[in-house]
Amino acid sequence: MVTIQEAFSILKNNLPQPKKEMLPLAKAKRHILAEDLVAPISMPPFRQSAMDGFALGLHDGLDYEIIGEIKAGDAQQVELKGGQAIKIFTGAPVPDSATAVMQIEKVIVSGTVLQLQEHPKLQMNIRPIGEQNLKGDLALEKGTLLNAACIGFLAGLGFTEVNVYKKSKIGILVTGNELVQPGLPLDYGKIYESNSIMLEIALQEAFYENTKIYYVNDDFENTKNKIAEVLAENDVILISGGISVGDYDFVAKALEALQVETLFYKVKQKPGKPLFAGKLNDKMIFALPGNPGASLTCFYIYVLPTLQNISGCNSDYGQTISKKLSHNFTVSNARNQFLKAHIVGDEVTVLTHQNSSMLNTFSVSNGLMYVEDGGYKLAKGTAVEVYVI
Ligand code: AMP
Ligand code: MG
Repeated sequence: MVTIQEAFSILKNNLPQPKKEMLPLAKAKRHILAEDLVAPISMPPFRQSAMDGFALGLHDGLDYEIIGEIKAGDAQQVELKGGQAIKIFTGAPVPDSATAVMQIEKVIVSGTVLQLQEHPKLQMNIRPIGEQNLKGDLALEKGTLLNAACIGFLAGLGFTEVNVYKKSKIGILVTGNELVQPGLPLDYGKIYESNSIMLEIALQEAFYENTKIYYVNDDFENTKNKIAEVLAENDVILISGGISVGDYDFVAKALEALQVETLFYKVKQKPGKPLFAGKLNDKMIFALPGNPGASLTCFYIYVLPTLQNISGCNSDYGQTISKKLSHNFTVSNARNQFLKAHIVGDEVTVLTHQNSSMLNTFSVSNGLMYVEDGGYKLAKGTAVEVYVI
């Protein structure tokens, strides 16, 4: 049995080295960049018109002769003499000989005669080469979380693939003879199996999409063989249930038989005391308690930061924010607790139905309030630590 803090530091010290992979840009969202990226081109790559208007071969007067037009995407080279103008559109290449672009709103056109309504300033409405970045500039730094803007920026520089930290392939193994899939009749003694879909969605919400669900009944040999299969096919495995001390909880024995190294087994916490973490070579194994509330709590507190660290994020374990209790609260004399709670603005409210088997109030919870083991009262307004979920 370890404390919560011990569990955090054990995990931190046993993280597998993040692996890298090349991914097409469109698949790289929410991945962490595994190397510095240098811009292969300047942006813009040519002098670009920032406006619809007229590129000017500058002279002193306000009247110009219009000699043609340049659309976005055109490539013709035009030599503008002083007093000549060419119609130009946003994004079109500005001739080297042009010294300014006057926007369409500030001119009068009659036939081929252009009259400016004000004097142009030099280089106005022209985006110079490399205004955003020059070829060879650092575009994005290693460690950047790739969001939509990053992906757009890289596409604009012509990247088609990027080197990122690999996201783990995650196997979810569900144990329990009593479990029935939703949609089937619920016979006496059975309950609907809800942990696999819950964990899979929690993973998806955190952008871990590479998951597979497996099932096994409460039998030692089957459990051992199934865990071996899941281990062979995945980088990280999450086992649901079967990790307590009942006669039909075979996960701990099966893991031992498979020579999985125990990082810790049992944490001084409520819910989620039976939590197991282990590793085998560079694979991580979490055995989560079957009780759905405990399972999800352990997922947010231990599994998610671990997955993030494996995929190149520097995620701290035990990251909380401080909120004020919205009501008086008596902390029962139990282990350190993660309490389903609801944050609104500066305040947090502890929800009802704290039992680890229950998910009804977890559904409306947006935080887990952490309290040290108890037998004491917290007054309304007391500052408390909350894990945001
Ligand atoms: P266990 O950890 O296997 O002892 O299970 C603890 C409790 O959680 C029992 O009441 C189980 O029926 C329940 N439980 C276990 N696995 C699931 C699951 N996948 N979905 C819903 N409830 C579960
Ligand atoms: Mg069970």
